[in-house]
Amino acid sequence: MNRHTTPSEFTTGAGIRAWGADQRAAGLRIGFVPTMGFLHEGHLRLVDAARRVSDVVVMSIFVNPLQFSAGEDLDRYPRDLPRDRSLAAGRGVDALFLPDVSVMYPPGSDTRVVPGPAADRWEGAVRPGHFAGVLTVVAKLFHLVSPDVAIFGQKDAQQAALIRGMVRDLDWPVVVMVSPTTREPDGLALSSRNSYLGASDRAQAVGLSAALRAAHDAWAGGETDGRRLESRARQALEMFPGVRPEYIAVVEPDALAPAETAAAGCLVLIAARVGSTRLIDNVILGEGLA
Ligand code: AMP
Repeated sequence: MNRHTTPSEFTTGAGIRAWGADQRAAGLRIGFVPTMGFLHEGHLRLVDAARRVSDVVVMSIFVNPLQFSAGEDLDRYPRDLPRDRSLAAGRGVDALFLPDVSVMYPPGSDTRVVPGPAADRWEGAVRPGHFAGVLTVVAKLFHLVSPDVAIFGQKDAQQAALIRGMVRDLDWPVVVMVSPTTREPDGLALSSRNSYLGASDRAQAVGLSAALRAAHDAWAGGETDGRRLESRARQALEMFPGVRPEYIAVVEPDALAPAETAAAGCLVLIAARVGSTRLIDNVILGEGLA
């Protein structure tokens, strides 16, 4: 839905809190879409989903240093606030929360959320501390925005599972919704990091979704052995020599432990490097790639 508004903008915790309090006082339900900006259609569909279940939509844009390890792409992470503003406005975002690092992490701000063991697998194994950083920023944002509903993308499946777990374990009064992955026509999942890909890497990057599709097709054809499904995905990647997989795994949906037998609802996860760009993707068995 296109609803052109000029979103209210806030850069301080007190500002977004006061705005939220006004909305609640008016009886309005707040939907929240946290992002790191450099918006694409995937982010904007989360806004649409938020709009469907709430009266006003808040988007945060904050490149969270806590979730980047040393040597990762924090410094070169793509940023374009003017463009993000206009895309958010075009999609009817009501309020933008744009804190800077000193607002979110003033000196001495060293308390962290400790994720459960599902954070040690997959992304967490490759990116130590990543999910403590994610959960800490999401906890802070939830306290500042006090949303009724928060929307996350299936694209970051492990992140979504851990946020659901945090909300459940800490009795948070917020509904967590997860929206499907938005893809390019050839299957590549939209990501701000796709902007790093040159033309030849972009052509190879479709290998991630091709591998997921191969595993999903095999499962739909009756193969339920987790290891064999992983092998199907790896075989499909042989067509894409520029894609170097870090992990490919068939996992069950909550704890994300490897699934020996893959039932509907299990996930196939992939992380791979294409040139110097690290990409992740996944498919839910039984749902397939959109
Ligand atoms: P990011 O800005 O990458 O931190 O992403 C912000 C939110 O958008 C997260 O909940 C992501 O899972 C979600 N997201 C990112 N890419 C996609 C996509 N292609 N489809 C759906 N959601 C996405």
